[in-house]
Amino acid sequence: MNQSNTFFEPAGVCDRFISITQRLHPSANQDGVTGNEDPVREYVISQAQEIPGVTVVVYDQGATQPGDRVIILSRPGSGVYAGKTPVILQAHMDMVYNPVDMAFPLTVIFDPNRQGQGKWIKAVENKGRPSTLGADDGLGVATALALLADPNLKDYPLECLFTVQEETDMGGAQNFDLKYLTGRQLLNLDAEDLPIIIYGSAGGSTTQYQGNISRIATPKDYMTMQLTISGLRGGHSGVDINKGRLNAIKVLAQALARLDKRITALDVSGQSIGSYDLLVYDIKRYDVKKSNAIPAAAEAVIGLPMKNAKQFIADFYTLCAALRNQNQPEENGFLPWATPTSTTEQALDEKSTDTLLCLLQQVPHGVIAMIPEVPGVVETSTNLYDVTLDGNTVTIGSSNRSSCDDSLTALNNAQANIGAIFQFDVKTGIDSYPSWQPNPKSPLLKIATGVYSDPQMYGDQCDATVIHAGLECGTISARYEEVGIDMDCISIGPTIKDPHSPSESLQVEAADGTQTVQKFYNAVSQILGKIFTA
Ligand SMILES: [Zn+2]
Repeated sequence: MNQSNTFFEPAGVCDRFISITQRLHPSANQDGVTGNEDPVREYVISQAQEIPGVTVVVYDQGATQPGDRVIILSRPGSGVYAGKTPVILQAHMDMVYNPVDMAFPLTVIFDPNRQGQGKWIKAVENKGRPSTLGADDGLGVATALALLADPNLKDYPLECLFTVQEETDMGGAQNFDLKYLTGRQLLNLDAEDLPIIIYGSAGGSTTQYQGNISRIATPKDYMTMQLTISGLRGGHSGVDINKGRLNAIKVLAQALARLDKRITALDVSGQSIGSYDLLVYDIKRYDVKKSNAIPAAAEAVIGLPMKNAKQFIADFYTLCAALRNQNQPEENGFLPWATPTSTTEQALDEKSTDTLLCLLQQVPHGVIAMIPEVPGVVETSTNLYDVTLDGNTVTIGSSNRSSCDDSLTALNNAQANIGAIFQFDVKTGIDSYPSWQPNPKSPLLKIATGVYSDPQMYGDQCDATVIHAGLECGTISARYEEVGIDMDCISIGPTIKDPHSPSESLQVEAADGTQTVQKFYNAVSQILGKIFTA
């Protein structure tokens, strides 16, 4: 189980990181049960107890609530730094669970798939299959512990906040007791792009539309057909929402609305495509229903007069081919499928069919606004991620993100209005988490940018930006703000590719031979030095 820890420097980070990969610590197991970080929590405490001067401020071994499962460490300043306010180092102890491949201990190897791009490490589990590595955020935990134990930094006053459940609901960051941290500057070590400093991120919430549908017996001479859209690219609703990818639910609704004779009287394209007396039986997402993933597959069961079946299938494929052509090369995997089927359900009546198809067309999806002063960064977006028909009820879900609260409110209002027109009940603000408002005047950002943009460090590769995904900094700074405390935060980290997937890989050496984790470690040390000598 002990691997030779020679993957990267500094050894203090490498040894601890490898130790973390040997211990089970998923955010949630395959049954969705959270609170599985104990082996890593115990490891962190055993490390803390070996470092001179460190006090364990919060550690409750048997705690079950996420807010009580965080670990907080403290080491006061000494020498010339005695009495100075500490800086907080923060990372999350949980990693994304991968139910297919997860088995511990993991074996860390150099990534054979990234040869020629410097050196990278990844993980395989005991059967040799690829596994998530957990550098997100085990590398952050290892870095914080190594900094705390570094004899060269032993006089710096530091606090460490190690959270749990970041990857599921940010339960640790949402609930820990604020009174235990005395620092007012926080370095989050969970970013994934080495020369980038993050100083703001989006917040979000879910909107749910719910309405009643009426069902009727299948009309005489009708047949039922199953339609599937699959092979779309999908992707992360924060990171990939501006890449022009199709939403499978939207594609299916758009095709059906165009083929529905009662709706298509409104069609303005003049395409030579037929229209039919359609009834919908069912329409649903066909890949895993996750609010933070763009739907890549969807399925519908519809009914139509038997005599139209052949022409309908031809027209469905023609419509889909046109959509696929419009979206090349991004969606070259787009695969439509139509096949006769049988169902025991009753059909939605004409009004319910048309209402549902028109509403799905109107529900917004994709980028709503870009940030004017930050080119290329999405400000507000929404991901239509669910449609479920259950008996006489239909539920539609959209996951919204925004770095601007007013803009999110405007989106919520638009969604409420659209639902109301179709006589659907709309609930907004479900499972909301706060945005992390960028503060371009942040003193911490100024210091970090100074260190990062030094020609010896990252030079003009350094960039400070805001991102369109959630980070714990947002939750933590918002909670302190509520009690009138200004917590200055930035997020930094080494380069990680494909986090949350079995391809997750950590860069340890750049193509030019630079030791990248060492460089990151040096950068954090220098930032701390500049803060304490300022
Ligand atoms: Zn993370």
